[in-house]
Amino acid sequence: MENFRFYVPTDVYFGRDQLTHLAEAVGRYGKKVLLAYGGGSIKRNGLYDQVVAALADFEITELSGIEPNPRIETVRKGVDLCRMHEVDVILAVGGGSTIDCSKVIGAGVYYDGDAWDLVVGKAKVGKVLPIVDILTLAATGSEMNRGAVISNMETNEKLGTGGWEMIPKVSFLDPSNTFTVPEYQTAAGSADIMSHLFENYFKRTTGTDVQDFVSEGLMKAVIKNCPIALKEPDNYDARANLMWASTWALNGLTGSGKKGAWSCHAIEHELSAYYDITHGIGLAILTPRWMAYALNDETVEKFAQYARNVWNVQEAVPMMAARIGIQKTYDYFKACGIPMTLPEVGIDEEKLTLMAEQAVAHSTIATDAYVPMDAVAVEGILRECLSESSFV
Ligand code: NAP
Ligand code: FE
Repeated sequence: MENFRFYVPTDVYFGRDQLTHLAEAVGRYGKKVLLAYGGGSIKRNGLYDQVVAALADFEITELSGIEPNPRIETVRKGVDLCRMHEVDVILAVGGGSTIDCSKVIGAGVYYDGDAWDLVVGKAKVGKVLPIVDILTLAATGSEMNRGAVISNMETNEKLGTGGWEMIPKVSFLDPSNTFTVPEYQTAAGSADIMSHLFENYFKRTTGTDVQDFVSEGLMKAVIKNCPIALKEPDNYDARANLMWASTWALNGLTGSGKKGAWSCHAIEHELSAYYDITHGIGLAILTPRWMAYALNDETVEKFAQYARNVWNVQEAVPMMAARIGIQKTYDYFKACGIPMTLPEVGIDEEKLTLMAEQAVAHSTIATDAYVPMDAVAVEGILRECLSESSFV
């Protein structure tokens, strides 16, 4: 296990009817609020009205229309609004896209140049306006972490950034706010949670039983509860388990003490940068093919451990157990209704070489991935995603 810092100061209000604490929580940081949200789901399900009522005594400025895969133009708009209205605190009401966008707006306010500099790493994220959020979709873990992902469709770049001050100060996690999440987004969010766990689980650092066994437990919780939520969208416990799993899958715990680059996220970000697809869907398509690529004599024990501990595979031969585990992963995503090939999400061969090159250029997967990947290897994985696959 490597050295690490674990710092997660987010104050979590979990469960129903917690908005009674909203005014007090937001009020800790001031009276002038930027209310940030997406394309209108919170207006349709009544959450917007509840928030506005709870903050009747506050001065609210609104930023609406934050896109899934939030764009840098929207960040810039948010920075301008915060400056114009001297905003004290940002209240992000939505999924990962709204929270991520709010984080970079919060950082942009304290940066003199263009906010895109903070995304590409030209400037470091320093001070950030306090972020309070009300999560409406279990997926990213943004509600308790220091990361944010922003897209620039002009340059076809979707890049991650982060900073300690981006960690939300307060997160309201009410599972009933996710009852209205459509099936496709429920499945995509669950695949994103699983992928966050996989990215940290499959790393070269050894001696990390705590992180790995916690990850296996969280994977099992998602595997069990996503199908229930798909069948019964208002099943509180299923939604509660997905929400809490989302938070713990990527709040720093499961990746603590581990080194290495994330493989599937690096490739998925290129799919979204060129085709604007749903993040979790891209990850679900890539993951089993990436696993098959990464399975070799050195990694087989870990893949067999995954198959046995997560999928209860009884097969004694490690290589066979590992393959069965990969097959089960593939079959599971498919059973959740996820389209499991690239053509089904509108991606053909045309840009595979370019996206493979960009995935390597935008990340350190060529040197630091669990199994290093050059552009040829990435393109090979992408080509496997063009049609249905079988792993055993
Ligand atoms: P999202 O992009 O925030 O939302 C996806 C869609 O779901 C939107 O159309 C949204 O509609 C809808 N939606 C959200 N809550 C809903 C509800 N309660 N009822 C009905 N519809 C609802 O999805 P996400 O998966 O949470 O975030 C994806 C983004 O986060 C990607 O850009 C991804 O790369 C990034 N990400 C970040 C991290 C991190 O650590 N920060 C990690 C992984 C991924 P409205 O817009 O109308 O609300
Ligand atoms: Fe993700």
